[in-house]
Amino acid sequence: MESSWAVYGCTAEPAKAESGVEPFRKKLARLGKTLLRATGTTLQVNLGPMCNQLCRHCHLDAGPHRTETMDLETMEELLRFARTCAPQVVDITGGAPELNPHLSYLVESLSPWVPRLMIRTNLTALAEAGTEELLELFRKKRVVLVASFPSPNPAQLEAQRGIGVMGKSLEMLRVLNMAGYGIPGSELELDLVSNPAGAFLPPAQQKAQERFRKELQRRWGIHFNRLYTFANVPLGRFRMWLISTGNFQGYMQRLQSAFNPLTLEGLMCRSLVSISWEGYLFDCDFNLCVALPMGGMKRHISEMEGFPEPGSPIVVGDHCYACTAGSGFT
Ligand code: SF4
Repeated sequence: MESSWAVYGCTAEPAKAESGVEPFRKKLARLGKTLLRATGTTLQVNLGPMCNQLCRHCHLDAGPHRTETMDLETMEELLRFARTCAPQVVDITGGAPELNPHLSYLVESLSPWVPRLMIRTNLTALAEAGTEELLELFRKKRVVLVASFPSPNPAQLEAQRGIGVMGKSLEMLRVLNMAGYGIPGSELELDLVSNPAGAFLPPAQQKAQERFRKELQRRWGIHFNRLYTFANVPLGRFRMWLISTGNFQGYMQRLQSAFNPLTLEGLMCRSLVSISWEGYLFDCDFNLCVALPMGGMKRHISEMEGFPEPGSPIVVGDHCYACTAGSGFT
């Protein structure tokens, strides 16, 4: 079987640099901890790194220069595999999932039997893909939308996501609100995701949520349900940026100092499997980026039935410090 970085969704190997931190695996061993799978609940489907934006914090090197996206044959295999897993949640991500020509088919196929179907959107790709049809489908199928919106400050948001992205994002949030998404009392859920603009950790989620809600309502009359604040993961383009700006070691040390063993129990990799655009399995989307296959063994969805057994091993790397910093990454 071919083995290259491109197979897994990254064009470039992670830039080599000394992180200066204790290897995550050793840290766990020293604390007498192991990271093992619990009962599987969630399938995360990465439709590929094709995207209309080129965000600085992207851990996947996604962008308009990437053309890889899941084809129909792999999608059919995915649907078969998903049936054998019977997940509580299917979380569709990318790149920009809206740019996959088979997204509507995937939503139509999963929505009748998946209790919670989520799509991660950068907001601007929804407009590019033809808002009306997709939005109508998402509404009808009660798809949960999880939108990247790093900051209510236009300069900060555009420093991360590109010039002109603030206006387009606000416009799409308005369209979503008008469709009923994020409106108090509506069943259509719209959550936002914020991540820091630079080499520092995110603020406490609850406080940030209050600030975002106040700002977005006051300045633009925009509503949403929940805000998630995540640390940037030192992989892909964000890693290259950290290295090129001399921030890599400092950032890794910051993550290591914020290590919180209480996060281990609830880490997403314990209950989730991540599937690449080619149908390979990973313990999470970050391991997918660095080609660390699920449990250390390269496997395709066509070879598997159901979630891995509880107690199966999870492969870790130093990027796991981003998941275990502060209150964690779920
Ligand atoms: S990066 Fe996070 S989710 Fe992935 S294996 Fe490490 S701790 Fe688990």
